[in-house]
Amino acid sequence: MSADQERRWRRAQQIVEHAWRDLPAYDRHLLQSIGASQWLITTEATGRAVDDLLRSAGYERLSERAVRDLNAAAGVWIAELRLVVISAAHEPLAELDDRTYEAMLARVAWHEWAHALSVVRATREDVAAGERLLDLAPSGIRDFVRRGGYRRSEYTHELVAEIYALLMSRRRRGQPGQPPWLHDEIYNLVRRVSGWSE
Ligand SMILES: [Zn+2]
Repeated sequence: MSADQERRWRRAQQIVEHAWRDLPAYDRHLLQSIGASQWLITTEATGRAVDDLLRSAGYERLSERAVRDLNAAAGVWIAELRLVVISAAHEPLAELDDRTYEAMLARVAWHEWAHALSVVRATREDVAAGERLLDLAPSGIRDFVRRGGYRRSEYTHELVAEIYALLMSRRRRGQPGQPPWLHDEIYNLVRRVSGWSE
């Protein structure tokens, strides 16, 4: 690891630890109870790192396509390994100034933790309602999920994860609770799935 990579790795590690400590205690407890409290910061691209981890654990190699898709993300929850992987080397984030980098990386961590909670705790009905829930979502998030190329069965998880990361960012800025622009049905879903009770 070069000195610059090491510096980035340490900084990312600190940011994610801070993001973890900032979680409401009950949400952290839920993450521990579903086995989603472990994370790994890598200095490689996300997809490459995940491929290596899966292979060392005895799983099949990912396709080149899957590696490429994952490389486009700064973080991912790997259900098989009960692990959140975050890349400190993610290019689009590397260009940011320190404060923005910290805010963005914390959001990546919050997104992945909420994503894990959603995968485990959302009901079949919640998942089936993904398309309709997306229609109720703020347009920025709706477009983000639609453009992300996700399958319909992933809409609910992506929505919960994005909203949760936003709620955490607002909470850190001293604005807890339900944002006025957020539909009740989505807020209630996020509360039920993530344990959010702010
Ligand atoms: Zn996600």
